[in-house]
Amino acid sequence: MAVQTVAADSTTPDAAEKTGGSPFDLGAAVALSCRECGTRTPLGPSFVCLECFGPLEVAYELPTGDPEGLRKRIEAGPASMWRYAPLLPVPADVADKPNLNPGFTQLVKADRLAAELGVTGGLYVKDDSGNPTHSFKDRPVAIALEAARAFGLTTLSCSSTGNLAGAVGAAASRAGLRSCVFIPDGLEQSKVVMAAVYGGELVAINGTYDDVNRFCSELIGDPLGEGWGFTNVNLRPFYAEGSKSLAYEICEQLGWRLPDQIVIPVASGCQLVKIDKGLRELIRLGLVEDRPFRIFAAQAEGCSPVSRAFKEGTDAVRPVKKPDTIAKSLAIGDPADGPYVIDICRRTGGAVEDVDDAQIVDAIQLLARTEGVFAETAGGVTLGVTRKLIEAGALDPTLTTVVLNTGDGLKTLDAVAPTARPTALIRPSLDAFRAAGLA
Ligand SMILES: *Cc1c(COP(=O)(O)O)cnc(C)c1O
Ligand SMILES: [Zn+2]
Repeated sequence: MAVQTVAADSTTPDAAEKTGGSPFDLGAAVALSCRECGTRTPLGPSFVCLECFGPLEVAYELPTGDPEGLRKRIEAGPASMWRYAPLLPVPADVADKPNLNPGFTQLVKADRLAAELGVTGGLYVKDDSGNPTHSFKDRPVAIALEAARAFGLTTLSCSSTGNLAGAVGAAASRAGLRSCVFIPDGLEQSKVVMAAVYGGELVAINGTYDDVNRFCSELIGDPLGEGWGFTNVNLRPFYAEGSKSLAYEICEQLGWRLPDQIVIPVASGCQLVKIDKGLRELIRLGLVEDRPFRIFAAQAEGCSPVSRAFKEGTDAVRPVKKPDTIAKSLAIGDPADGPYVIDICRRTGGAVEDVDDAQIVDAIQLLARTEGVFAETAGGVTLGVTRKLIEAGALDPTLTTVVLNTGDGLKTLDAVAPTARPTALIRPSLDAFRAAGLA
C-alpha cells in the first residue's frame, strides 16, 4: 500500500522519536498542547488543560524539509482522507484497518451557480455529502476511532445534532466496537434512523443539544462512563483534527493552491477552526504558496450566537437558549469554538453571517437546480450566507471561492418536501401528457 511507504520515508522521524516516548503510535502526533497557554501533556483521552482549562489540541512533528517528496507521497496515496495520514494523528497503516475510509469527496466546479451569483473568479462546491454516512462527520469520527483504538477504549459515544450519531454508529460497527450515542429529542426522522440502523445504542434525551452535551460531560466523569470514548468530549482533540483533511483536499483539488475565500457552516465551530489550521499547515510545509485567504462563517438565524457576537464587534458569544431553525445539524446554542471562529474570521478579513429558514430552502433549491447537488439544510445555510455576503459586497466575486456542502439533502427532506413535488399527475396516455402542457 502506498501509505506504508510513508513510514519508511527518511523525512518521517522513526517510531521512537515520533511518539516522543509516548506508548501510542499516532503517527506524527507527539503530545497534546493547550491552545491558550501552550502547556503540553502526553497523548491520551484528555481535552482540558490542567493549568488554565483551555482546550487541548494535537501537537505534531510534521515532515518538513521535502515538500516535493511529501506532495508526491500524498498524490500516490489512497483516494480517501488517509492520503494525508502523514499530517494526521493516525498510525501509518491506518488505511489497512477496518474503518469507513471517508474523504476525497468531489470539488465541484460550479460554473452555472457562479453565473447566477455573479461570481467570476471561480466558484467551487466541496461536496461532503459523498462521505460514507453522507456528511463531513465521517472525517473527524475516523480520527476519533483511531484514538479510541490506541487508548483501548471499547465504547464509542457522542452527543450529536444528528449527523455525528450516524457517523459514530457506522464507524463503531465497521471497527467492531460498541457504540452508545446521545441525541436531543425531535431530530429529523432520517437522522434518527441513520443513528439507529447500525445497531448500537441510541438514546434520545428530552432537551436541546446543549443539554445532551452537558449530560455527556457528567457521564464522562462518572464510573458509568469508564472505557468510553466520546468523540466530541474526551476524544475531541483527535476528532477535531479530522476536519483538517477538508483543507488539504480543497487545496490539492485546486492544483495545490489556496482558495481566496472559503465559506464554512458553524455549529460548535470545530470544523472551521481546523480548516484554518489545515490551510496554515500547508503553507508552513511548503505545499502551497503563502497567499492571504479569507474565511467566512455561516449560521442559521434561529441559532446564530456567533454571527450575533461578530456583528456586535465582540468575541463574547452569548448562548442561545432555545435554538429554532430547520438547520438542526447547526443548532448548537453554546458553541465551544465560537470565540475562535470570530478571531479567525476577523484575522483573515472574513465575516460571520446568518440566513433565515426561507433563505435556507431557497439556497438548497438553487444549488440543486444549477449544479445537481442536493444539500441538507446546513448546506443551504452556507450557500444562502454566500449569496448574502456577495450581495453585501463582503465576498469578492472576482476571487476563487469555495463553499462547503457538509451534508446530504436526503437527511433533511422535510425542508423541501412541500415544494419538491411532481410537476403533474396524469393518466398513462399521450393525450393526457399533451394536455398537461409539458412537451
Ligand atoms: C456538525 C455539522 C456541522 C458543523 O460542525 P461544527 O464543527 O460543530 O461547527 C456542519 N454541517 C453539518 C452537516 C454537520 O453535521
Ligand atoms: Zn492551558
